[in-house]
Parts: sequence; structure tokens; C-alpha cells
Amino acid sequence: MPVKPKNSVIAERLESLLASTKRSAHNVKLGSNWTCPYCRHAQVVSAERIHDVDSELEVHGSRLTTPYLRVTAVVCANDQCRELTLSAGLSSIVVAKTPVGTHRHVRRPGKSWTLLPPSTAKPQPDCVPEPLRADYAEACAIRDLSPKASATIIRRCLQGMIRDFCGIKKGRLIDEIKELRALVEAGNAPRGVQHDSVDAIDHVRGIGNIGAHMEKDINTIIDVDPDEAQRLIELTEMLFEEWYEARHRREQRLQQIGAIAAEKAQAKAAPKAGEP
Ligand SMILES: [Zn+2]
Repeated sequence: MPVKPKNSVIAERLESLLASTKRSAHNVKLGSNWTCPYCRHAQVVSAERIHDVDSELEVHGSRLTTPYLRVTAVVCANDQCRELTLSAGLSSIVVAKTPVGTHRHVRRPGKSWTLLPPSTAKPQPDCVPEPLRADYAEACAIRDLSPKASATIIRRCLQGMIRDFCGIKKGRLIDEIKELRALVEAGNAPRGVQHDSVDAIDHVRGIGNIGAHMEKDINTIIDVDPDEAQRLIELTEMLFEEWYEARHRREQRLQQIGAIAAEKAQAKAAPKAGEP
């Protein structure tokens, strides 16, 4: 189910986030644009930083005609990072007979796995409350295995943010979003909470509901794919940054100004050398 935020700013941001997540490690090629999953540094992959190992697996009786494994290793060019990203793709070899002979080609990977980093979760600062960081990390860890469950956890994480950061607690997420929207419209929402982010949270509520309340109608199966779950994860990252980190940076700056002012006032009050 695609996310369709009304506001174009957030829609553009989410689109670009999706585009970056689609370039996962198993699609990375020499000379392609690639974003390191550890440090988010965008780079062009050079020959000495990528290595593919291809092997035909010599096993008999498999459902796959000839199982074929490709392992791709990429090293980040950012000097501060230099981490190794490792992925594996399993496909099969197809043999096609033509008038000029037989052609063997490798199918697109039927299955692929990111082996390193173990999770796509980015380290989050201490100014984000621990239960929210834990939900975020869990949503990242199960994204590929169960995108639906991942979306449900993200929904809970966003509800936790509304309760903690915005101080709204009403029991149902739909009512909490309604109240937050009213605060934004009246200009009384906490600093950093924008109209478009409330819209985006409302979309996540709809998607997360599928996982949370599916048991009410077992015939309704609406899938959330890993790319869609990833979009929700990245919305959470964006809000951690726009809400918690921005507030923390602002508080730190104001504290520094306060400290400088206090220091100057003290220096002014202290008797100068030579004075009685
Ligand atoms: Zn990196």
C-alpha cells in the first residue's frame, strides 16, 4: 500500500528516501551511485572498493535448475567510516537453446540478503528516549522478515513520540493525531512539529493499523512490502531529527549563550587589578 502524503514537501522527501533504499547492496555495481548504509555518505563505487564472488552451486536435485550464488562486498570510501557492506543473492542459471547454440544466463536474484551491516538501524542520540530508540531498532531488524510487523512497531513508536514530545495522551492514535493537528493549526504545537509531518504520521497510522487490527477481518490481507516499511522507518528517523535532535541542539546553544553571559557578568563584577 503506497504512502500518499498530501503535502508535496514531505512527498518529495519520502520519494528520495525510497529511491535511496532501492539501491540496496545487492544491486550495487561498479561505477554506480551508492549510499553507504553505515554513514549515509553518497559515493560512486570504484573498482578497488567492490568485489563480486560468483559461484555455481554443484548440488543435484534442487528445484532451481542450477543454483547460483553471488556475494558482493563493498567498502565505503569515506575515510571516517571504511565499513564493509556484504550481501548475497541466490538465483539460477537458465539454459536457452537457439539456432546458433545454447546460451546460459543468470536469472535475477530470486532471494537476496544483506549480511552486513546486520541491521539498517542508524545509531540514535541519547536525547531520543530509550523506548523509542528500542522500537525503531526492532522495526529495522524485522523489516525484511516481516514488513507488516515492522510497520506496526513504527506506528507504536510514532504514537510514543506524540505522547512524549507533544504531551498528548488520549488512548487512540487517531484522537491523538486529531489533537496534534488542532495544536499545529492554532500555532500551539511544540517547536519543530509541522503540518506535513502530522499528515505523514496519519498515513502511517493507516498502514500500521493493518498489522495491529488484522485479526478483526482475517480475509483482508493487505501487504506492506519491505520498501514501504523502510519509508516508514525513514519518516521516524526524520522526526527524531526534526523533533528531538533539533530541540536538543537549540537547548545546548541557548545554554552556551547563558554560560557566556554569566561569565561576562562575573568578569565585570570582579575588581580589576590596581583598583582598591
Ligand atoms: Zn560509510
